[in-house]
Amino acid sequence: MTYANTSSPGTLPEHAPLIIEIARPVLERAVRRLLRGSAEVALNAGLLRTESGTRLLIATDAAPEPPADYRRVILRHEDSPMSAVDTGPEAGVELLVDAQGALRSTHPSVVRIRVVGTGLHQATITEAASPAGSSRWSRIAGALGAAAHARLRETRFAVVGCGRTGSLVATTLARIGVSHLTLIDPDTVELHNLDAMDGTSYGDIGRPKVQAVADHLRLFACGVPEPISQAVTTGTSIAALREADFVCCCVDDATARLATSTLATLFLKPLLDIGVGIHAHNGQVEKAADVRLVLPGEHRCLACYGGIAQQDQMLPLIGGQTASTEWHEQRAGSLRSLNQVAAHLGIGIIEDLVTERVQHSQWLRLRYKDYLPTIEPLTADPDPECPVCALGVRGDAALPQLSAVLRAAVRRGVRMPTAAHELRKPRGV
Ligand SMILES: [Zn+2]
Repeated sequence: MTYANTSSPGTLPEHAPLIIEIARPVLERAVRRLLRGSAEVALNAGLLRTESGTRLLIATDAAPEPPADYRRVILRHEDSPMSAVDTGPEAGVELLVDAQGALRSTHPSVVRIRVVGTGLHQATITEAASPAGSSRWSRIAGALGAAAHARLRETRFAVVGCGRTGSLVATTLARIGVSHLTLIDPDTVELHNLDAMDGTSYGDIGRPKVQAVADHLRLFACGVPEPISQAVTTGTSIAALREADFVCCCVDDATARLATSTLATLFLKPLLDIGVGIHAHNGQVEKAADVRLVLPGEHRCLACYGGIAQQDQMLPLIGGQTASTEWHEQRAGSLRSLNQVAAHLGIGIIEDLVTERVQHSQWLRLRYKDYLPTIEPLTADPDPECPVCALGVRGDAALPQLSAVLRAAVRRGVRMPTAAHELRKPRGV
């Protein structure tokens, strides 16, 4: 086995809690290799330091020459004689799988093991506080199953963009029992937001959107929402994304969408992206939305799975100018009804992901022909030259290259417009 570059796994902190996160397709391939007789399977892990501990992010099978910043994780059968060997922090991390597929680690610092993908499984599920007792969740648990609902409630969600669509997503996540919710948005509530945003009133005008929505959620949510009134690229926001298990992107700005989706890729987070648009074109009003779930371990990111609409907003990143289009030419307005349908198509995908009805990345396009909605499942071939995917799941080691990767993604997106760009999305939805 060639691991010349990973000979110093002792750089793992010895006493900090260790969280192992592994993309489900990678785990399934590794288990199949064990079942076919391999004594062990070596995996590469990116490293992410968070306030709650250090995360090892596993999204790729072992490469012959992994980058120096990857760490080594060894997967073995629970009853493998080699598992009795004390690996310890100096020798990398050992992950054991039993006959039922349950995971545990012999490493003394491992406190949590998450399987990132369908089912949203993790090895240390604890019951969240339920002030009103189990009867509060009887309807949702009846629909999803109690175990799936427990996994959903324990999943830490970050909602980036807390306006018309994001406030609806945050509200419904809190309604269905999610107890860990971080809200990220730098904007303040304006008068025109009152026509669509959940949780806002006249008294909120001028307040940060995340603060207004968090105050609303506290009236019924189980956990305490964390509001971050900053752009997604600030240190505080990035630290919050590190801690999240799942990222919902509901921004109205192409650059913020690209940054959010790229950070989700680097940090091994499943991503739900919702983009909504109403556009006046040739005297017709077009209503449409793209709802995409991007699961780690499938060699794709948002940039190569439909791309980012409104590329012109990102041109300043590569020294270009944003096209100065008149407001009425860019957008025809927005409608809470359309935001609602798109937001809840997305929430429905999350519910089907946690129950394992959804197994892979999903891309749904909602369009209205006259007054009739249609929902079309779309797909895109993997892009072997995608600069975001090329960086992989390297956690903190990739952050110094973030700006360069964003610029490369914009250049590639401009050169290779994808189907998503047919949907001209207005600002401010
Ligand atoms: Zn990609």
